[in-house]
Amino acid sequence: MTYGTATTFNEFRQRNRELLDELNRIHEAGHAVVAVRLGVEVFEVFSPFPSSTEYDLGGCARSSNVSDEDDLLIRFAGAGAEVIFRKVSWTMAFRSAAGGDWKASQEVIDELALLEPRKQVVKKAKARVIALLT
Ligand SMILES: [Zn+2]
Repeated sequence: MTYGTATTFNEFRQRNRELLDELNRIHEAGHAVVAVRLGVEVFEVFSPFPSSTEYDLGGCARSSNVSDEDDLLIRFAGAGAEVIFRKVSWTMAFRSAAGGDWKASQEVIDELALLEPRKQVVKKAKARVIALLT
């Protein structure tokens, strides 16, 4: 990955901090909105601390006492918010800030794929996330 004329991601982030932090807030809000809409308790939503020197992605702390289906929807919701607000594809969203969410979703997708084809699990989750966010 290249960051324009910046030599490190942190340098890139310092120069583009406002934009990145806004994208991050949109992403984390997506997780929180879907969790709340599913009736899942959200404890805290945070975006990167202004003083942090490391790239901090922020987060959404919520109850983990959820069904596999709801867990997947909440995990996909950060990318879903990017799809809606950045007008990017799911693939693009999962390649950027939501890459960790995609990786973290694999286990629950595997569980749900015992009941129906994996591709169908992913497709249905994406559609439900968009419906929950709009
Ligand atoms: Zn996320």
